[in-house]
Amino acid sequence: MTRDEACALDGDDSLAQQRSAFALPDGVIYLDGNSLGPLSHAARDRVQEVVAQQWGEQLIQSWNVHHWIDLPLRVGEKIAALIGAAPGQTLCCDSTSVNLFKVLSCALHLQAGRSVILTEAQNFPADLYIAEGLGRFANGCEVRTVSADALEASLDTDVAVLLLTHVNFKSAAMHDMARLTRLAHEHGALVVWDLAHSAGAMPLELDEWQVDFAVGCGYKYLNGGPGAPAFLYAATRHHAGIRQPLTGWMGHSNPFAFAPDYTPASGVQQFLCGTPAILSMAALDAALDQFAGLDLQAVRTKSVCLTQLFLDLKESHQELSALRLVSPREAEQRGSHLAFAHADAYAICQALIAAGVIVDFRAPDILRLGFTPLTLRYAEVYDAVEILLEIVRSARYQAPEFARRARVT
Ligand SMILES: *Cc1c(COP(=O)(O)O)cnc(C)c1O
Repeated sequence: MTRDEACALDGDDSLAQQRSAFALPDGVIYLDGNSLGPLSHAARDRVQEVVAQQWGEQLIQSWNVHHWIDLPLRVGEKIAALIGAAPGQTLCCDSTSVNLFKVLSCALHLQAGRSVILTEAQNFPADLYIAEGLGRFANGCEVRTVSADALEASLDTDVAVLLLTHVNFKSAAMHDMARLTRLAHEHGALVVWDLAHSAGAMPLELDEWQVDFAVGCGYKYLNGGPGAPAFLYAATRHHAGIRQPLTGWMGHSNPFAFAPDYTPASGVQQFLCGTPAILSMAALDAALDQFAGLDLQAVRTKSVCLTQLFLDLKESHQELSALRLVSPREAEQRGSHLAFAHADAYAICQALIAAGVIVDFRAPDILRLGFTPLTLRYAEVYDAVEILLEIVRSARYQAPEFARRARVT
């Protein structure tokens, strides 16, 4: 593959024009949209409008006039369209961690007589922390943590809930959500899926796969901005039995009655807790419009092509062999990023960033590169490999300035 050939792929790319919707700085190759999606013009304009006109001029009236109060449901339905969920099951609210606490509590409650949350040792640590935190409060609850290949054999009659992340945050290894959900159900367990690294990057079919509950992130592939509100999904068949501990007033059937007693709203709405973060949710709301009418299968296909191009180019250079692929080799078994282990991964990451290729590092030794199909060009993938090659060849990453650790990696 030559650079001209990579440019030709851009010429044939049906998603190429999507990039013009984003405000990416010049001279930067952004391989971190899996961690913080880029700013869209629509999100920037919306936030400015909400701040200046809605908040600035219409003040508190905007809760009604601009329907701020409906945002969690409205934005939830935009996300529902991306995850294969019929209306009435998806909300935008809180953080992924908080949403996980709520749906996991609910799933446990629905499974009277069973007490085990089964999860994977390699799951995103925050998900493990939340499960363990909940386990300490829920009487007799045990969090059973096993390796990915032991999950199936660990599904027994004690398992109340199978809690998994669809695409692993570090390795990008992707579970077969339909199959594991079916297996869990065969053993009488419910499933909770974390879609942080898959929503917006590939088609998902939560209803069709009979998923019980799911949570996901607003600031990764959905481009909602730093700390954007997250989402949750609860299948309609469970709505009659919903119980969750964060019974805030936004989940009340009539919050503005200010009744002393809690009466849950019907359906998925009772997962709402406190007042929504309107500025953040407005940014996500606008960013999601970018997905309207988009073919997520085309997004996935481009994601696979970009990722494979990087891998093929990287492997064509013997000098890069010290970067060991940690992600699955088969494209259909991984998400939209790649992970490589290297003893100096942190320094290489910093040297790449200094050279305008923004990637990230995951402790202890992983260089992680995300390939977001809406903004990334094939030619940039080509250039990123060339820059990586130059940094490794020259050992430039060994300069002391690249060893300094920041708080956020
Ligand atoms: C990014 C990510 C989260 C984020 O959780 P927050 O509550 O937003 O910090 C959760 N789960 C997974 C798997 C993630 O990758």
